[in-house]
Amino acid sequence: MKPAPFDYAVPRTIAEAVEALGDTGRKAQVLAGGQSLILEMHLQRVRPDLVVDINHIPELDGMRVEGDELRVGALVRHAAFEPATAVPGPLGTLLSKTVVNIAHPPIRSRGTMAGSFGWAHPASEWCAIGVALDATVEVTGPDGARALPAGDYFLGPHRTTRRPQELITAVRLPLLGENTGVSFIEHRRTHFTFAQVAVAAALTVHDGVIADARIGLVNSADRPIRARAAEDSLIGTETGPLPAGPRLPGEHPFARAGRIAATQDAAPLDQPYADAEYKRQAIAVLVGRTLLEAAADQRARLTAREGYHR
Ligand SMILES: Cc1cc2nc3c(=O)[nH]c(=O)nc-3n(C[C@H](O)[C@H](O)[C@H](O)COP(=O)(O)OP(=O)(O)OC[C@H]3O[C@@H](n4cnc5c(N)ncnc54)[C@H](O)[C@@H]3O)c2cc1C
Repeated sequence: MKPAPFDYAVPRTIAEAVEALGDTGRKAQVLAGGQSLILEMHLQRVRPDLVVDINHIPELDGMRVEGDELRVGALVRHAAFEPATAVPGPLGTLLSKTVVNIAHPPIRSRGTMAGSFGWAHPASEWCAIGVALDATVEVTGPDGARALPAGDYFLGPHRTTRRPQELITAVRLPLLGENTGVSFIEHRRTHFTFAQVAVAAALTVHDGVIADARIGLVNSADRPIRARAAEDSLIGTETGPLPAGPRLPGEHPFARAGRIAATQDAAPLDQPYADAEYKRQAIAVLVGRTLLEAAADQRARLTAREGYHR
């Protein structure tokens, strides 16, 4: 199949892009990495009148630390997060552990983090991390700039609080402190397909007690979600001796959090090869394992720091 006819604009500034998108007489789509849009246009599931190619706007490129946040410009490709050192601290570890689960290298070399927030697929790894960490989506439209909290941003598959005339200029993620351990585990059918389910976790531990827990669930509802009930069950819990293997005793707090996430937080939809019941079982197991890995990561960071200061 071929795309339906469309006009093509190549703005050089954010202002020019917003002007093109603000032409309300036409249905416009932003072209970033094109790794979702071009496929959808080819299948004619998306038929824009106008494609606004933002790849020639230097202001949208680059990522940098600003205060206690990482600001990721709208042209930063997925692959930029592959080196664990690209971003400081535990956030860098989380992003680099996660990114290798997104599609395959050619897609990662073009697709963008902001594009994932634009596409808003329930199985997007970045979007679940954004929700779990309270990221902010920066947008600019004809009425000016807005900062949209990721927690309220997703309304359903491909539906967000962003207005069609608004351009995502950046995604801002909070940096994670050194007492935080992180992990990401994904379950999928074949190597390069979307996740059946996946879990991101960040555990902040002070003196062996969990002070903060962030759990993001991928493809576990009609949008990326945070497992708040499971998180609440962990606050104030002692991490204690960590079980050695991936199998957790049923009464372990991480196993209990997994069951809570699967039954109280997740609202999975039936899909080919993974019905809702299957996904709930996978979520229960993966949440437990992801928390265990995050706790082990926090311990390893602590040991490395204490060894360094000795
Ligand atoms: C085979 C295959 C496997 C894939 N596997 C995964 C996977 O496992 N996990 C995953 O998360 N993704 C996966 N993807 C999608 C890929 O990660 C895309 O890169 C991502 O969804 C969108 O990023 P993009 O920059 O390519 O956006 P584009 O394709 O250019 O745009 C996607 C949508 O977002 C909008 N958009 C993009 N940028 C902006 C912006 N700055 N402001 C406003 N709107 C914007 C566009 O208008 C469009 O509607 C896969 C894609 C393919 C083809």
